[in-house]
Amino acid sequence: MKFGEIVGHRDLVERLRQNIDAGRVSHAQLIEGECGWGTLQVALAYVQYLHCSHREGGEPCGKCPSCVQIEALAHPDVHFVFPIVNPSKTPTSDSFIAEWREIVAENDAIFDEYDWYDAINAQNAQGIIPQKEADEIIRKLSFKAFEGERKSVIIWLPERMKREAANSLLKILEEPWDGTLFLLVSEHPESLLTTITSRTQSISVGRIEPEELAEYAVRKLGASPEAAAAAARVADGSLITLKRALQGEGVTASDNFELFTRLMRLSYSNRHLELFEWAEQLATAGRESQKHFLEYALGMIRESYMLTAGVESVSHLWGAERDFCLKFAPYVANHNVEQLVAEMERALRDIGQNGNPRMVFTHFALAVSKLIALRG
Ligand SMILES: [Zn+2]
Repeated sequence: MKFGEIVGHRDLVERLRQNIDAGRVSHAQLIEGECGWGTLQVALAYVQYLHCSHREGGEPCGKCPSCVQIEALAHPDVHFVFPIVNPSKTPTSDSFIAEWREIVAENDAIFDEYDWYDAINAQNAQGIIPQKEADEIIRKLSFKAFEGERKSVIIWLPERMKREAANSLLKILEEPWDGTLFLLVSEHPESLLTTITSRTQSISVGRIEPEELAEYAVRKLGASPEAAAAAARVADGSLITLKRALQGEGVTASDNFELFTRLMRLSYSNRHLELFEWAEQLATAGRESQKHFLEYALGMIRESYMLTAGVESVSHLWGAERDFCLKFAPYVANHNVEQLVAEMERALRDIGQNGNPRMVFTHFALAVSKLIALRG
């Protein structure tokens, strides 16, 4: 991937390019941000530029053997590590390299953890980076570089490392190997060992500007300018949310709306028995759908709060969602909004950490219902 193909982040890209040109390449770097903000795009362009033997005009040439191999994710000195499932049968990332190449190529390197588990048919699993992977990194690094002097290791979602794997990585980072670059691409750097983060240089990737998102939606996703602009407004800086918004009022979007409105109606009418049924229904959905629902619910709570606060002009809603939120807005106000958001974030975290969905959603439904029933 060339720097010019990264969506947004012009200033950041310029800084990275200048650093490489000036030979300022720290041996371990932590690219922080949500997957939807394009963190993996940044990592791929960075590595390609670094390894390219004929950089031109501030871009990798795209033609030298290094460029061709990196674009195919098949460079012998550029290694990928990512969370996998079933480590007893398929012990390392290399077992999934075909699926990895496919998902990166098909999505311009824009996908999240849940898309990844989908791609390897493990929707309900929580991936990990096992100890074996750390051994494998050390084994690969101990060979001489095949081409040039440089080796790079991209670790996608290092927060999924098992404790032992993290400790092994720490040892490597403590005594850097000559010419070896580690790029850690993390959504939750706060979950990493501080001894690891303190040995990395941080590259903070932020949200993408709506104009950049809209431009991408037209150019690469074939959206009309109107649809692109609307999707870019609700995307909150994320290419992943942008794509979902464009796929539009499909099954997931309307299911989420139905689930959300039902939860809220049951909550303000205190129908506890039906709340359990609601929780049960969501508990049987895939982990990916559960997470999407919670993100959606968070968005709806925030939008409703904005309506309560009288800042309608910044609301992103329209249609049925807007109608519902206008009616529902009085139930979300200063007295409960923070706790509602906290409950949703907590459920998201618990689901992300492989919590039992039945327990998570039963607790969630009851807690939300209590907060909604509170009158300010
Ligand atoms: Zn090149």
